[in-house]
Amino acid sequence: MKAHALICPVCDGESSLLDVVDFHKSCEERRGIYFDLSGIPIYYAICHNCGFCFAPEMAAWSLEQFETKVYNQQYVHVDPDYIEIRPREKATELLSMFPGVNSFIKHLDYGGGNGLLSQLLKAADWNSISYDPFVDKNKNINSLDKFDLITAYEVFEHVPDVDRLMSNLNTLLKPNGLVLFSTLLSDGNIHSKQRLEWWYASPRNGHISLFSKKSLDLLSEKYGWQLASFSDSLHLFYRVLPPWATPHITLNYNL
Ligand SMILES: [Zn+2]
Repeated sequence: MKAHALICPVCDGESSLLDVVDFHKSCEERRGIYFDLSGIPIYYAICHNCGFCFAPEMAAWSLEQFETKVYNQQYVHVDPDYIEIRPREKATELLSMFPGVNSFIKHLDYGGGNGLLSQLLKAADWNSISYDPFVDKNKNINSLDKFDLITAYEVFEHVPDVDRLMSNLNTLLKPNGLVLFSTLLSDGNIHSKQRLEWWYASPRNGHISLFSKKSLDLLSEKYGWQLASFSDSLHLFYRVLPPWATPHITLNYNL
């Protein structure tokens, strides 16, 4: 791994290597579960301008490499909630966050895996579909509709190409639509000149893009969006708050 000339994919800022961890470092370590070491070193770099933390070599992997090495049959062991628990929880959250909007809006669950969240919302009369780059490989996003609400739960930290994600969201979103997304902010958890011990920095989970508040701010600016954060893990990109969302969202939650 070359330690020089690393450029931040978010802000083009000067970046340098922060630490190296074993590929099998997983989010389950926070629950005291440790997998056997793989012997494969994964380097993480940090941007000195915006604090974005990324794994440059893994980010260059092909879709097939991610499928074989990360999103394979063992993935469920490092993220046991992704199949059933998280989609059910998020459906309940969305239904209580936006009561009664079902007939007014088109919803897309971006990175929705098996599509369970969308199915649950459809059962509540939402106009919802799921799109996942790993599942819907042959679907061209330009052939999809434009959406009032795009959700992306636990997606941002997985993407190898942040600009591609943002431009996809931009393509899919109506001009006054909302992107509601979750990713855990690295502020207070990652520090330059300190070892990378944060549980969320886990290559076995495919967590290769770790956002600071500043990096999300810069990213939203780049695409002409505003950023609001409801917590250290739930965020919103928007241009103008649409009338259907206004009664349901208070934008006074900035961190
Ligand atoms: Zn940066």
